[in-house]
Amino acid sequence: MEKPKTNPWQKKAAINMLFLNLMIIIAFAFKSLGPDLTPPPPYEVPESILAFSSNIEKPKPEHEETKIVAITFDDGPHPRYTEPILDGLKERGVVATFFITGDHAEKYPGIVKRIHDEGHLIGNHTYSHMQLTKYNLEEFANELSLTSQIIAEITGAETLFVRPPYGLWDIRLEAKLNMFPVMWTIDPRDWARSSVSGIVNDVVNKVKPYDIILLHDEYESTQNASLIIVDQLLEAGYVFVTVEELLLN
Ligand SMILES: [Zn+2]
Repeated sequence: MEKPKTNPWQKKAAINMLFLNLMIIIAFAFKSLGPDLTPPPPYEVPESILAFSSNIEKPKPEHEETKIVAITFDDGPHPRYTEPILDGLKERGVVATFFITGDHAEKYPGIVKRIHDEGHLIGNHTYSHMQLTKYNLEEFANELSLTSQIIAEITGAETLFVRPPYGLWDIRLEAKLNMFPVMWTIDPRDWARSSVSGIVNDVVNKVKPYDIILLHDEYESTQNASLIIVDQLLEAGYVFVTVEELLLN
């Protein structure tokens, strides 16, 4: 096999590099012999090391720099108002959480499927919108199990989160059912008023990162207000996540 020919240019460049390296080594050797009176330049820590060491001290949650917020809709799916909300969320690329009742899920499985397929989270809101009391723990638990079963039959997904109607919960249910309650931090009482601007202002004036906004997808006013809220919060730099993502962060 013929030896590859070396380009005379390459040869020259290699000799030059060798010479340069030698000069650098000699310069360093001499420098270390004599006293060096010049102060050392400030040592700059490379950015990669800074990022690495700060990670060690304090693990950074993914959304730490981000204003995250969760918007939630209870009591659906509703045959009239849920889908326009889904259309609006899709247009805006926003995810939400829908706490649905088993009763409504059985009536509108197509909407349940759509909620799931479009990347939203589905939570459990009991079968009949049952209020937990001192006397119905067993029945309440059965409604939650039945509703999760209905949701799983439609979507194939397991339901981990519960929005207990009226916010009434018993901690024993968590171990019994492996389900966790998700309450809310902002309640504009959309079920008690029809003023779209009233609902919107109530939310956007109070909102802060990590809030969970409570709405009900069974009113025209909520349908309109919810999308205005989304627009205004997007404009203010908020990022919408499901309650699962919010709680994990
Ligand atoms: Zn409810």
